[in-house]
Amino acid sequence: MTSMTSPAEAGRGSRRAAPVGHAAMRSANLSLLLRHLHEHGGRSRATLAQETGLSKAAVTSLVGDLAVRGLVQEGEVERRGTVGRPGTEVRIAPHHVGGIGLELNVDYLAVCLRDLAGQVRFTSSVPMPYILDAEAADGRAYPIAPILDLAAQQLQEALEVAAGEGLWVAGATIAPPGPIDYDGAGVRFASNLGWADVPLGEELGRRLGEGHPVLALENDAKLSALAEAPRLAQRGITDLVYLTGDMGVGAGIIAGGRLIRGWSGFSGEVGHIGLDPAGERCRCGRRGCWETMVGFDTVLAVLDEEDPARSGRLPMLERLARIRGLLEEGDAALQERFVRLAEDLVRGAGVLVDVLNPQAIVLGGYFGHFADLLVGPVQAALDERLLAADGRVEVSASSLGLEAAAAGGAAVALDRVLEDPLRAPVRGG
Ligand SMILES: [Zn+2]
Repeated sequence: MTSMTSPAEAGRGSRRAAPVGHAAMRSANLSLLLRHLHEHGGRSRATLAQETGLSKAAVTSLVGDLAVRGLVQEGEVERRGTVGRPGTEVRIAPHHVGGIGLELNVDYLAVCLRDLAGQVRFTSSVPMPYILDAEAADGRAYPIAPILDLAAQQLQEALEVAAGEGLWVAGATIAPPGPIDYDGAGVRFASNLGWADVPLGEELGRRLGEGHPVLALENDAKLSALAEAPRLAQRGITDLVYLTGDMGVGAGIIAGGRLIRGWSGFSGEVGHIGLDPAGERCRCGRRGCWETMVGFDTVLAVLDEEDPARSGRLPMLERLARIRGLLEEGDAALQERFVRLAEDLVRGAGVLVDVLNPQAIVLGGYFGHFADLLVGPVQAALDERLLAADGRVEVSASSLGLEAAAAGGAAVALDRVLEDPLRAPVRGG
């Protein structure tokens, strides 16, 4: 998660009170060392001292503190230096601390467990349950209680895997498909689910029972952007817009390496940018929102009524595979839809480029799945409308697939330990 502030904690206005004096210094230095190892990989104590500016004695003592919490371990002998005796490498220990991410999406519930070294230990994805309801906007209603039961069950499964593998879980980040009430740990509204003011954190906590890990909420597009950011940062890209394509469309915006959440966390609700006052009615009540042009239902609407992909009873990956198959068979209506989709993506993306001046646009969700049909035309059209040659934006597909938000959520949960290593319990203590 590199040096980004944990989004679950940064934007709340109620920052942790800073500890004072020696204890504060020690906690900050533990964090400095652990983040350094997390970002740059294993190295000797001597190298750590050199690179962080801490004394060798301090590094040795701090590494001891990290080791008793199972956060670092001894690795191979470092061979980079030529002077003095080679030091033993210290590296992030993968076996003791884990973080969980759960994405609650209109289509599926995905959970991801990662360890502190970034390895994925467990993932699982189940279709989102719904009931047919002629009154609802898309003919479906999403009953809150059974969905929360299923979400808690997914979390419980990940917790059991963690326990089985000896991982202490630093926290779980939940990604609902809508703006979040950060103070109340609830979702303000999720227009695609027809939910308003659901206290997700409290409800899931109650279902998990006593001793459950810290639960935090963050928006799916924001988590996906955070999950994707390290890949792009390696190439010097610090300003990006991650577009997540589902029934709705959201954006995760990273500027200058930091997540932009807006005054009240509502940034990135780009699906409701109005592009056509005479356009179709959107779920949000307005007309001609961007997502009425590029949402996944615009693809489904082209399929036969009876098509299994359209009925929604298939898991998302199977629906995408079905659509891919139809495209390959030469389904003309579907091919035409993707040509239009690229054009309509550019209409909204152009606005975002003009407002935010990002270096990169990452296509996630179903857009990413059909990157071969979308990246080229979107890139070409954005190049064509450039105001200045050095304003070129690079279009690419997400490398993380449909579970980007869950993976990002796990990373954000682990960031709690990078921020304050003393949160991890002393092992055997
Ligand atoms: Zn709308």
